[in-house]
Amino acid sequence: FDDLQVPEATFKQVRHTVSRLPDILCREAFKRRPRNAHKGAFGHALIIGGERGMTGAARLAAEAAGRVGAGKVSIATRTAHADMLNLTRPEIMCHGVETAKELKTLLEQADVVAIGTGLGQGQWAKEMLEAVRHTDKPIVVDADALNLLAHSPFRFSNSVITPHSGEAARLLHLSTDEVESDRFAAVQALQLRFGNICVLKGAGTLIADTQGQINICTAGNPGMATGGMGDVLTGVIVGLLAQGFSTLQAAHLGVCLHGKAGDKAALEGERGLLPSDLLPWLRYF
Ligand code: AMP
Ligand code: MG
Repeated sequence: FDDLQVPEATFKQVRHTVSRLPDILCREAFKRRPRNAHKGAFGHALIIGGERGMTGAARLAAEAAGRVGAGKVSIATRTAHADMLNLTRPEIMCHGVETAKELKTLLEQADVVAIGTGLGQGQWAKEMLEAVRHTDKPIVVDADALNLLAHSPFRFSNSVITPHSGEAARLLHLSTDEVESDRFAAVQALQLRFGNICVLKGAGTLIADTQGQINICTAGNPGMATGGMGDVLTGVIVGLLAQGFSTLQAAHLGVCLHGKAGDKAALEGERGLLPSDLLPWLRYF
């Protein structure tokens, strides 16, 4: 483990069989597109979020989904923001949605879903979360969707949940320090209680799966400790799900791609790295 760029404390926590994420040649994970490729073959991702003041989070996730190769990307956001959001990235379809009923129509058209990026925790957010609670589509649950789940626990079956240690602490009713002092126990508890696959983000991101296996990702750097970075990860994972990767594959490959893109972007300096700097690099691997 000499080359692991993770804090010393994490080494001491290795209690389970921990294998490093295989150094996937990310390019090999993506099959070459056939000449007669059609966008329908690469899936339709729906991203739900973008409450007042946080529309950018949904936009970052949506753009990341497109940059990893999703065939179509839609955002469900507050009606007041939809047109403005659409202008910032014309490729993304932006729908104003106020009720669970309106969201249901969009859900039917999508293949995969992500909820949480810039969702907020108000009445709108609660209604949106309620509407996806029983979906059978693969789903990424992040950010404020996880904060809401802390008050009304629920296990999403076909899911990847992506908490950072603060969100993990709220879900487990612990302090952030307690989560950080035993990240392995935390990721496993979260996987059992809330999701199919749990990604516990941070330096040395951990991925817990249904087999009780925990993997660690060594890609990524401290420049990535900045607002919006997790929204890009959510988009990457949902964009992979859209293309037919399983929740396990999408979590592993997504965390790996995101970290590698962060490392490429940081070649120009860790300080001042912005989440949108990663987006062009998502196409590189
Ligand atoms: P969030 O806190 O939701 O914005 O997510 C931050 C993203 O950046 C996660 O994917 C983290 O794993 C990653 N990240 C943050 N800080 C570091 C770090 N010091 N080293 C590696 N990755 C990091
Ligand atoms: Mg986040």
